[in-house]
Amino acid sequence: MCRHLAYLGPPVTLADCVLHQPHSLLHQSWAPADMRGGGTINADGFGIGWLAGDVARRYRRDVPMWSDASLPDLAASISSGAILAAVRSATAGMPVTEPACAPFVEGTAMFSHNGVVDGWPASLAPLARALPPAVLMGLDAPTDSAFLWALVREHLRAGSSAASALSDVAAAVLARAPRSRLNLLLNDGRQIVATTVSHSLWVKQGEGSVTVSSEALDPGEPGWQPVPDRALVEATASQYEIHHV
Ligand code: GLN
Repeated sequence: MCRHLAYLGPPVTLADCVLHQPHSLLHQSWAPADMRGGGTINADGFGIGWLAGDVARRYRRDVPMWSDASLPDLAASISSGAILAAVRSATAGMPVTEPACAPFVEGTAMFSHNGVVDGWPASLAPLARALPPAVLMGLDAPTDSAFLWALVREHLRAGSSAASALSDVAAAVLARAPRSRLNLLLNDGRQIVATTVSHSLWVKQGEGSVTVSSEALDPGEPGWQPVPDRALVEATASQYEIHHV
């Protein structure tokens, strides 16, 4: 059910970040190793977001990552110190379209959701009532993930920290749809914040860099730490913390 990753550190090419490791996001798109709770491959589109200055830019397609013949050249030509990428396995009933692919972005914030909201959309109707009509009318896509992004973005606009925004939204959704799977991931160029609810996640601290990824990109290499379920990760390029929530 979707795979995602975020990177913070010295600028790297999108290709080095997303395509070149032994178990890169590209490899995970057709050979994921830990798809808990359904799904076999991530063929319903992909997206790569990166910070250029203080603006999040992105490239998204509604085709499998492996079938985009232009991606390798494009990805080799763009470097950034803050990247968030995702490959998608659409939840049954949700549209397979480019705007439904993460990352969802605003300003420097890049966001992705790996999972599913149980009972969507009825289960979250009470949360929708708290959003301004224009926000609901302007959802990126009619999907659970785009709605979660709208909730997170409202928290950020109201001044919440990224960690509070993700943990508050996860708690509010679980209160109404307890069997949801909610691996949320946000990278704003200063920090990466992530939640784990019923999906895999790993963290690796490098030399002045950090990578948070659904699956280890070079399994067998030292440094990858699994994140336990029901956790909140707060990471910068120099350190990370894992809190139980
Ligand atoms: N439910 C989300 C979607 O359909 C995420 C799916 C997933 O994690 N596989 O886009």
